[in-house]
Amino acid sequence: MIATESTAVRAARTTESASMSGSTTVVQGAGVTRPLAELADAGLEIPVLGGATVRHVNLDLAASAPALSVVAAHVVKLLPYYSSVHRGSGYPSQATTALVEEARVSVGRHVGARDGDLVVFTRNTTEALNLLATAVPGETVVLDIEHHANLLPWRDRRVVVARGSIADTLAALEAELAARPAALLSVTGASNVTGEVLPIAELARIAHAYGARIAVDAAQLLPHRRIDLVASDLDYVAFSGHKAYAPFGSGALVGRADWLDAAPAFLAGGGAVEHVAVDDVAWKTGADRHEAGTPNVVGILALARALAELERLGDAAREAHEAQLTERLHEGLEALPGVRVIRGFDDADDRLAIATIELEHGSVGLVAAALGAEHGISVRAGRFCAHPFFDRVSTRSNGLRASLGAGSTVDDVDRFLDALGRLIAEGPAFEYSRTPGGWCPVTDDRPRPVID
Ligand code: PMP
Repeated sequence: MIATESTAVRAARTTESASMSGSTTVVQGAGVTRPLAELADAGLEIPVLGGATVRHVNLDLAASAPALSVVAAHVVKLLPYYSSVHRGSGYPSQATTALVEEARVSVGRHVGARDGDLVVFTRNTTEALNLLATAVPGETVVLDIEHHANLLPWRDRRVVVARGSIADTLAALEAELAARPAALLSVTGASNVTGEVLPIAELARIAHAYGARIAVDAAQLLPHRRIDLVASDLDYVAFSGHKAYAPFGSGALVGRADWLDAAPAFLAGGGAVEHVAVDDVAWKTGADRHEAGTPNVVGILALARALAELERLGDAAREAHEAQLTERLHEGLEALPGVRVIRGFDDADDRLAIATIELEHGSVGLVAAALGAEHGISVRAGRFCAHPFFDRVSTRSNGLRASLGAGSTVDDVDRFLDALGRLIAEGPAFEYSRTPGGWCPVTDDRPRPVID
């Protein structure tokens, strides 16, 4: 490391402040001081540069969230029974088969699946949307605000550039569908860059008025808001377990069966077939058609358990908890000099607990690295796999995103705002260099965790 006098002094000050703020919760004003739900990383102490440890502040939940503690416990309880599904004659295999089929029912129920809808388990939202893309009998209309997972899979794709307001964007979509029919409108339920929530029921009305179906990429929305296929009149919804506090590698596509039954099997192999001869195959219909191979039993059961727990916590309680954090986050960011919060729409009145900022001066990548290395705060810098949207709404090449959820508190928000303010005003206390993998401390003395 580069021990100049001034960096050493600043390092001492930063370490002191980090360990102070890591030890107790000092809350000024009203706010949620307790998490709504306990996550597996609750109270995690992590090392920072210079030798101290602090309580980890996880503001990267929009990328991937730790398991709910009840989900982690559930997984441990089911592991003794873990067995292959469908084919076994033994008790654990039959129990596992029954649990997976119950999970299919409860995941479908969670999103308001109709009789006859399929619940196809996938690895994640990306795979769910890629699966749907193989089944769409025509063109798909998308907005340019989409995550790449909802931009790239569609074979016959028409991209509508979103306007400065949601109202104008709906009008632009309506004009596009009126001018030329499409089979599907596929939209995100909430932007992973800005957290702005889209009016999915209104979008469904527009799609259906012009003979299109609607799919919602609910990767961001589902962990934070209840989605109901019937109430919002949606045809398909796709989501990921790892963003919904079940990071065990599963996701789902839920929706109408006919297109999926008519599509080629997403994966060819065992379980997807009724019968195979050397020169002939009879494919199954239903979810099995697209789920060849041994399923991710643990991931599926964890996803179902997580959604059940989100129901138990209550939709209103989740929304209220996150609304308070969102307000504090945005108010705090707006008060910081040289910070601009990125927005896609000037009339979006509902947003998830996500904020992406750009900085007037300096590198967000460096700030993100210093937040992690010096303050124990996890955020994300980049363009968030939404390059067209980011490049249109941001004046900079990268943004810094903070995202919260059911395990977050006002102390997390305040630690972030405090550290960000210091980094903007004073710069990092240690030296960093830019590597192909991003900004890294020149000397990193943080020990890796020992996990045996
Ligand atoms: N859509 C949105 C809106 C997302 O935020 C993400 C993940 N960042 C995805 C799709 C892709 O999710 P996954 O990586 O779980 O497939």
